[in-house]
Amino acid sequence: MVTRKAIASILEDYEDIVVATVCSHSSLQIFHGARQEGFRTLGIAIGQRPRFYDAFPLAKPDEFLIVDSYADILDQADDLVARQAVTVPHGSFVEYMGADVFAKLPIPTFGNREVLRWESDRDKQREWLTSAGVPMPLKIEHPKDIDRPVFVKYYGAKGGRGSFIAKNYEDFRESIQPGMKFTIQEYVVGTRYYIHYFYSPFATSGYTLSKGGLEMLGVDRRDEANIDEMYKLGAQEALRKMGLLPTFVVTGNMPVVLRESLLPKAFEMGERTVERSIALFGGMIGPFCLETIVSDQLEFKVFEISTRIVAGTNLFIGGSPYADLAEPGMSTGRRIAREIRVAQKQGRLADVLS
Ligand code: AMP
Repeated sequence: MVTRKAIASILEDYEDIVVATVCSHSSLQIFHGARQEGFRTLGIAIGQRPRFYDAFPLAKPDEFLIVDSYADILDQADDLVARQAVTVPHGSFVEYMGADVFAKLPIPTFGNREVLRWESDRDKQREWLTSAGVPMPLKIEHPKDIDRPVFVKYYGAKGGRGSFIAKNYEDFRESIQPGMKFTIQEYVVGTRYYIHYFYSPFATSGYTLSKGGLEMLGVDRRDEANIDEMYKLGAQEALRKMGLLPTFVVTGNMPVVLRESLLPKAFEMGERTVERSIALFGGMIGPFCLETIVSDQLEFKVFEISTRIVAGTNLFIGGSPYADLAEPGMSTGRRIAREIRVAQKQGRLADVLS
């Protein structure tokens, strides 16, 4: 892992920051938000410059850097530092580059990179959240112990790819891919809410924590193929016999709001998650998402945490029913840029970049 000291020394020479990210996932929003806060922007494109950016002039980066592969970004680190680049990680950036390589990238990066060790390992994720008092679905230790509907998932953010439902050991054996690390959770029945938070260590007002403050910028629900449309074909058991198994590949997102009486719990979960992160590894900074299921008893279960900007925030480039009550029109992309700007003005860049 690149040290905070090394990044702090790079930052000493930074004056005119360029906000850079990989052209995918939530990059349009990140560039748009950076531009709103007065930053220059740089898009890292894999293979070729994506043409669709031309259709979105307000989100098109000022410059592109074309590399052959995610791994090649590492070779361009000196060039990126010379351009005074600050990278903003998103799901695709970290997953496709590989968390190990991303950890070593010698370029100032938004957020605390220590969080990677806790997020990318599902056991550590569970240790973090449960020790914070955040409710998670029950974990089934061994496939042979499957005695109820379960959800099996692999390590790392794969956009839902590969995950499957099993109702018994037979189902599990049928679908498991050999050689991959997996975890088994009880299948939680309820409705899904993906809550977009932002933690600022600088905030002194609003929903304050022991240090800084917590914001809620939006909530989405993911559209997943093929599970979300399968009901049209009939009962899953019958489909299974025809070899049609449900898949959970994220294809889009829908805006949702929580019933207002759930907000106290939503904030309490966010607060506990941040406070515990401060105690465990110096704090998770910036955007994060708790992926939840709410039961008919109005209880949350958090089945996963994403510790960076999630693609569901793309719904709220022009604000959200929550963001608009704090600062109208604030997106998560812009909020990240704002945090970098505030840090720069206060001479505290090293507090939010690592
Ligand atoms: P994940 O791979 O954790 O992002 O999960 C992909 C999708 O699987 C989620 O968006 C949910 O639809 C579903 N899911 C994940 N975990 C559970 C669970 N424990 N119970 C029910 N559904 C789940």
